[in-house]
Amino acid sequence: MLVRDEAEQIAGDIAELRHAIHREPEIGLYLPKTQRKVLDALDGLPLEISTGRALSSVTAVLRGGRRSGAGPVVLLRGDMDALPVTEETGLPYASAVPGAMHACGHDMHTAMLAGAARLLSARQADLPGTVIFMFQPGEEGQAGARHMIGEGVLDAAGERPVAAYALHVSSNKLPCGVFSTRPGPMLAAADQITVTVRGRGGHASQPHRAADPIPAACEMVLALQTLVTRKFDVFDPVVITVGSFHAGTTDNVIPDEAGFLATARSYSASSRTALADLVPRLVRDIASAHGLTADAEYSAEYPVTVNDADEAAFAVQAIADAFGPGRGEMAKFPITGAEDFSFILNEVPGAFVMLGACPPDRDPEAAPTNHSAVAVFDDAALPEGTALYAELALRRLARG
Ligand SMILES: [Zn+2]
Ligand SMILES: [Zn+2]
Repeated sequence: MLVRDEAEQIAGDIAELRHAIHREPEIGLYLPKTQRKVLDALDGLPLEISTGRALSSVTAVLRGGRRSGAGPVVLLRGDMDALPVTEETGLPYASAVPGAMHACGHDMHTAMLAGAARLLSARQADLPGTVIFMFQPGEEGQAGARHMIGEGVLDAAGERPVAAYALHVSSNKLPCGVFSTRPGPMLAAADQITVTVRGRGGHASQPHRAADPIPAACEMVLALQTLVTRKFDVFDPVVITVGSFHAGTTDNVIPDEAGFLATARSYSASSRTALADLVPRLVRDIASAHGLTADAEYSAEYPVTVNDADEAAFAVQAIADAFGPGRGEMAKFPITGAEDFSFILNEVPGAFVMLGACPPDRDPEAAPTNHSAVAVFDDAALPEGTALYAELALRRLARG
C-alpha cells in the first residue's frame, strides 16, 4: 500500500492527537503535558525513547531490520511549542488556556511526526537504516534545537544522520497540501539589538542644561535604515526593524535614558558579521557626536536556515514522485522568518520544507498569517505532512 494511503487511514488518529495538543498549548522549553501526549502516541511502537534533561523533548530511534549496524541514519524533526497569544478562532478544539495558542501550527508538526513514527514502525522489518524522530520544545525563541543538540540528539542512533528534514505548516500563502522548499538560504538569521542611550535629565524648557537622549535615539533609528541601504548589497538583503522604543515619563521632563530594541534579519554570514560590527559602532558614534554615551549589544540568536542543494532537490523529487505534479513548488525567495532548525542544518545536510495548511475555503493570499490569534491550520494537511515525513525517510534510507 502507498504511504499516502496509509497516512489517510490513520488521519483520524493524527487529527485527534493534534486537537488534544491544540486544546492544551504549552510555551517554551518545558512542555510536560505535550510530552506526555507524544509518549502516549508512541507507546507500543518498536522505538528507543529518551526524554530531555533540561527541556521536555522526546527523542525516538527506530532501527530498521534490513541492515546490520545502525546506518544510514535520517533525522526527522517536529517542534512542539505554542506562542503567548490568546486564541480567537472559535474552533471547537480551540485553546482552553488563556494567553497560549498553537498559532504557528507546531501542534500539527508534533502530530504528523507521531503519525510518521507509526507508519515507519509498521515497516521496520524492511527499513534499510535508522530514523531519529526529534520532538522539540522551545522553537519560538528559546533555541530548543540547540539544547537538544547539546543533549545528544544527533548521536542518538550511535552515528550521525546523513540527512535531516523538518516540515512547517503555513496558514496563508500556500494552498492547502502544497509543499515548498528551495536550495540554499530558506529562512533568515535573526539577531537582537539592545540599545540604551545615556544622557542627563533635566527641565524640558532648558535642554541646554541637560543632555537629552531622545533626539539622539531617534537619529539612531533612522540611521539604521540608512545603514541598510548604504552598507549592504541589495541582492543580499538585510532587514532591521525597531520594534520597541521607550523613553521618558511626561512632556516637561528630559529623561536620563532612552532605549530601544531591534531585530536584524540577514541571509549570509558576511552580512551577519557586518551587522554585528556596524550596528553597535553606528549607535555609539551617534551618541558620541551628541556628547552622550550608548550601550549597544548585538546578540546572535538564530543562524540562517540553509538547505543543502542536493537535499532540497531530493525533497522536491520525493514530493513529485509521491504526490504527483503540482503539489510541490521551488520557492523563488527565502522567508524572512527564522528557525532554530538552522542549528541542525549547520551540522547535518538537509532541507526545511513548508506545507500549505490554509483552509481550502479561504484565499491563501488574504488568510491570516502564522502567529495571528485568528490563524487557522486545516486538518486536511495532516495526512499529507505525515506521508511526506515518512516518504523522505524511506527514500533517503533506500538511497543509502
Ligand atoms: Zn512561529
Ligand atoms: Zn514555527
